[in-house]
Amino acid sequence: MIYIGCHLSVVDGYRAMGETMSRFGGNTFAWFTRNPRGGRTKPVLSEDMLALQAHLRREHFGPLVAHGSYTMNVCSAKEETRANGRDMLRQDLERMEGLPGNLYNFHPGTHTGLGTEAGIGLIADALNEMLTPDMHTTVLLETMAGKGSEIGGTFEELREIIDRVECRDKIGVCFDTCHTWDAGYDIVGDLDGVLQHFDDVIGLPRLKAVHFNDSKNDRGSHKDRHEKLGQGFLGLEAMKRIALHPALQGRPFILETPNEDAGYIEEIHTVLGWMQEK
Ligand code: FE
Ligand code: FE
Ligand code: ZN
Repeated sequence: MIYIGCHLSVVDGYRAMGETMSRFGGNTFAWFTRNPRGGRTKPVLSEDMLALQAHLRREHFGPLVAHGSYTMNVCSAKEETRANGRDMLRQDLERMEGLPGNLYNFHPGTHTGLGTEAGIGLIADALNEMLTPDMHTTVLLETMAGKGSEIGGTFEELREIIDRVECRDKIGVCFDTCHTWDAGYDIVGDLDGVLQHFDDVIGLPRLKAVHFNDSKNDRGSHKDRHEKLGQGFLGLEAMKRIALHPALQGRPFILETPNEDAGYIEEIHTVLGWMQEK
């Protein structure tokens, strides 16, 4: 089995997200650690976090997958943007310690002209500054569509970052199905081959979470526009094969599809149905 859930808003607190997801029928979720435009986030309410922890245990949730801000870019050509990015990363990881044992995912970054090698070095530097042997969070690099100067559009680039990180047991990868497809990997026609390639380059044990999205664009488009399950270029059959693939069992799958609540509930139940058929 896999764990299934979607992105939720943290505005009503942590426990509220757990209760909402149980109502939706899922058993994991994601949230932006601050608002996606990069503004302030709620202060830490440890009682609220403890209430969520109790809910997760009682309802047998899988690992949660917090998402760092889109504006966080530790490999920007601008020194100020890099410094802001490192501050956000540090604060996010401090806050995550209130929910030990979960996952924190972020977009590796855009090098904005510095070049891929320099960008990879800066990302690794930031991680080496922030990751400690005693932390209780695993930090995930997301597979990207390779849009513009985005780093992480190939498995090899992610591997290069991981190779330079000292606390390597604190790092993993979040496999975004829309991004990977848009980057050019044929997860529709050759899912086994792509996962084998991932295993060869990075190692499947590092694949800790999946962002489960269809794509509005064809393979190799480098666009990054998510679509509802079955309504894009991946299609429902391919998405079902991904959810049921033996190599991906036990992972949290997070829907980042363009939906309101009702649409998410429907997609969660579609995935639960696939697991029951089996
Ligand atoms: Fe993302
Ligand atoms: Fe994603
Ligand atoms: Zn995306």
